[in-house]
Amino acid sequence: MSTAAGALKRIIAPALPLMLGLSGVLWALPHGLPLWRSVSIVSAWLGTGLLVGSLLLMVRVPRLAALLGGLDVQYRWHHRSGTVAYALLLLHPLALAVDGWAQSPQLAWQALAPWLLSWPLWLGWAALLLLMVGLGATFSVDLPYRRWRALHYLLGIGVLCGLLHVWALLGEPGALWPFMLLAGLAMSWRLFGVDLGIAAHAYRVRSVIRPAARMIEAVLEPCGARMKPVPGQFVFAAFGDGPNFHGCGEFHPFTVSAVGADGSLAVGIKALGPCSQHVQALESGVLVRLQGPFGTFLSGWSAGAQLWIAGGIGITPFLAALRRDRCAYPVALIYLYRSAQDAAYVDELKAIAEADPLLALYDVCGGGLPDFVALFGKVSDLRERNVQLCGPVPLIDAAREALGRHGVPADSIHFERFDFR
Ligand SMILES: Cc1cc2nc3c(=O)[nH]c(=O)nc-3n(C[C@H](O)[C@H](O)[C@H](O)COP(=O)(O)OP(=O)(O)OC[C@H]3O[C@@H](n4cnc5c(N)ncnc54)[C@H](O)[C@@H]3O)c2cc1C
Repeated sequence: MSTAAGALKRIIAPALPLMLGLSGVLWALPHGLPLWRSVSIVSAWLGTGLLVGSLLLMVRVPRLAALLGGLDVQYRWHHRSGTVAYALLLLHPLALAVDGWAQSPQLAWQALAPWLLSWPLWLGWAALLLLMVGLGATFSVDLPYRRWRALHYLLGIGVLCGLLHVWALLGEPGALWPFMLLAGLAMSWRLFGVDLGIAAHAYRVRSVIRPAARMIEAVLEPCGARMKPVPGQFVFAAFGDGPNFHGCGEFHPFTVSAVGADGSLAVGIKALGPCSQHVQALESGVLVRLQGPFGTFLSGWSAGAQLWIAGGIGITPFLAALRRDRCAYPVALIYLYRSAQDAAYVDELKAIAEADPLLALYDVCGGGLPDFVALFGKVSDLRERNVQLCGPVPLIDAAREALGRHGVPADSIHFERFDFR
């Protein structure tokens, strides 16, 4: 992808909520009102537009994600626009109170005390409260994932309350109906299309192997329409039932570890939490629903010499690439894993490296962060290489810092984190 096209893609995600916010402001632009009342109206409409834009950015559709530069970019702007929207919506009653203060402190207090207000205004306060709890959960990285997600849903109810609040106050939908339509579509698609998986592809587990301790790799074959992932991409998989296996049915992201010419694909799954632990008992014949493919990792990998660094299960995107094609350019692959028990695919990678003179494999066994100075000393022309990193967040952060110290430009470093909060 050209740099100009990449730059254009990067502005679509922030531009979408901003345009919605500005269109709301243009419609409701106040004339001849006191300053703080005008501030209150502008912040309300700008916040509402941003919030609806934030909802649109949580819709998970492969084409939309590709248009916006990837699901991670999309989710980043979903969070940012939601947060700015909340700050603006909070400003709305505060500005009304400041406006009331000019007449009397009692009027200012009335603008802030919900129990003195009518039901349309209660709806507004309920919206703010729900958004506050939902956003608070968004930033609580320590919350268990399912609780985090349940609290995140409060944001959707908060948006509904907010839109009903404006409708009740206006007495008619006015400029609100496009916002209501977009919010309704986004929430319906998210609930039915994404979380309940109505639009998912049906696959079946063909075989399961155990490449390392607490890890499986499953080959999945299409039951109907097939997806066309490329190495580096990931899918959301929800495992169903088989003769002796009952899946939890939740969609979780997994990077493809192999792409078969017959439409099959493989995913390697490390036991981490409740679902990935449960999936370790997977068996052939189980139905799987897949969404995707998503992601742009490795999309430009063939353009010049490479350094790939994989930590643990982060080996999967590189494995998919190496299983599919021989290297077109020199590739140095540093594969880090904790112990001999965790050494998934090492024998296979060694065999690939023996057969492909362009691939140099450095496998490193041991917990904690590696000695990057010693490792990078083995890689020739380090600064000229495109670097691709995949693994746990602390490893990625430490590797980026070490690469920077070795003079590798930041824009040559690409990485994928296995975390979406
Ligand atoms: C882009 C991407 C690619 C990944 N590829 C692989 C892979 O190839 N192999 C592999 O073993 N693991 C991969 N993971 C991680 C895998 O998705 C999690 O280990 C799994 O979802 C954990 O679910 P759990 O119920 O077992 O654990 P939990 O304890 O519920 O979750 C552990 C953590 O996983 C993340 N997570 C859980 N569920 C989801 C979800 N539905 N959507 C997004 N994040 C979630 C959260 O950060 C959470 O804190 C990938 C993650 C991402 C984001």
